[in-house]
Amino acid sequence: MHISVDSDRCIGSAQCAVTVPSVFEQDEDGLSTVIPGREDGGGEPLVREAVRACPVRAITIKETEDA
Ligand code: SF4
Repeated sequence: MHISVDSDRCIGSAQCAVTVPSVFEQDEDGLSTVIPGREDGGGEPLVREAVRACPVRAITIKETEDA
């Protein structure tokens, strides 16, 4: 999978960073980003929960062939 956050949509609610701190972090503006190197989710099962929990649906998962 490949995870991305749409920074134009993100409102900095931080649910994703709280749910999966190993994948999401907040930048200096309070907006969420994917931690470099963790775009594949790192095998973290809660990533899909973070996608569901985002109030503005700013997180996208693209399925890739390797996972
Ligand atoms: S849950 Fe959504 S709106 Fe909240 S910080 Fe994460 S990406 Fe941004």
